[in-house]
Amino acid sequence: MNSNSRLTHLECSKTGKTYDSEVLQNLSAAGAPLLARYDLEAASHTLTKESLKGRQWNMWRYREVLPVRNADRILYLGEGGTPLHCAPRLGKQTGFPNLMIKDESVNPTGSFKARGLSAAINAAFERGATRFAIPSAGNAAGAMSAYVAAGGGESFVFMPADTPSAFVIECRSFGAHVELVDGLISDCGKIVASRKEQEGWFDVSTLKEPYRLEGKKTLGYEIAEQLGFDLPDVILYPTGGGTGLIGMWKAFNEMEQLGWIGSKRPRMVTVQASGCAPMVRAFEEGTEARFWEGAHTSASGLRVPGAVGDFLILKAVRESGGTAIAVTDEAMEKGLVGSDERIVLFNTGSGYKYLEALGSSS
Ligand SMILES: *Cc1c(COP(=O)(O)O)cnc(C)c1O
Repeated sequence: MNSNSRLTHLECSKTGKTYDSEVLQNLSAAGAPLLARYDLEAASHTLTKESLKGRQWNMWRYREVLPVRNADRILYLGEGGTPLHCAPRLGKQTGFPNLMIKDESVNPTGSFKARGLSAAINAAFERGATRFAIPSAGNAAGAMSAYVAAGGGESFVFMPADTPSAFVIECRSFGAHVELVDGLISDCGKIVASRKEQEGWFDVSTLKEPYRLEGKKTLGYEIAEQLGFDLPDVILYPTGGGTGLIGMWKAFNEMEQLGWIGSKRPRMVTVQASGCAPMVRAFEEGTEARFWEGAHTSASGLRVPGAVGDFLILKAVRESGGTAIAVTDEAMEKGLVGSDERIVLFNTGSGYKYLEALGSSS
């Protein structure tokens, strides 16, 4: 069955130059992420608020605006369709009664990385890839290994040597080749870049292929649906490579074109650890992001000293009237969020994979 995907082409996020969406692509000639573009007018005929009611509650309910063509061949492990909980006790404690938590830990392999990797790996298999490589802090590699295993391909994973052991075991149990690297995720990325051509790997690094972003944007579609298409006032996003934040921002623009929402947007708040906060520094200085030297934080998923899509993160945050903070307490002290506002937080991944870190802090 045809998925009815209305994907038409890819567009360079820097120059606007168009690229073929039906072949494997990495960065544009300008070295920037490629963004997927759809015929949203055509999509709006079948992807309607009404039609959604009859669809399964998972991320493929938005298939018209996802990049996979053959609906029968989708490797589906249960991604998306996660709950948005009200958090009244946390809300009361913090003085923000309208706090909500999108619980992404219930995705396959325990994190929201499953959304992006499901879209990317499904699309890449459809376009002929069989060998995949990824630099990862853990969750992305686990998710990739699962979808690649489901499709009978081969995974090559590069993770910092201090990555929690659960991720290494997880990837190996899915049959991935795992190399532990004495360095940061940026060093892992360099290894993938230097060997991919010779090894015939498809590089699935954050934003270096176009479709992880598409999977991740379904966070925005789901939150909109769960709130009756009345978007929250504020979204706090723990930012590493920023796919979720960039993705949600893209989803809101698509939804406006689909006629589902108006022009009002949530204020997007990028949250980073103070030991690795390149987006916060750039936001505060009003400049472009620069590589963060000496990155350190126990939030390993956020230890991303340099992000390919940094300018897209900053654009979304600035356009939305949002902000960038290194700790959540700071935003409260600065009075950036009103006590009556509707706020969405994310539980981005399962704590069960970080038992070493949790155990040592208790
Ligand atoms: C990857 C990751 C993040 C950061 O997400 P990005 O979209 O890459 O910024 C946050 N938390 C966890 C647990 C992650 O695995």
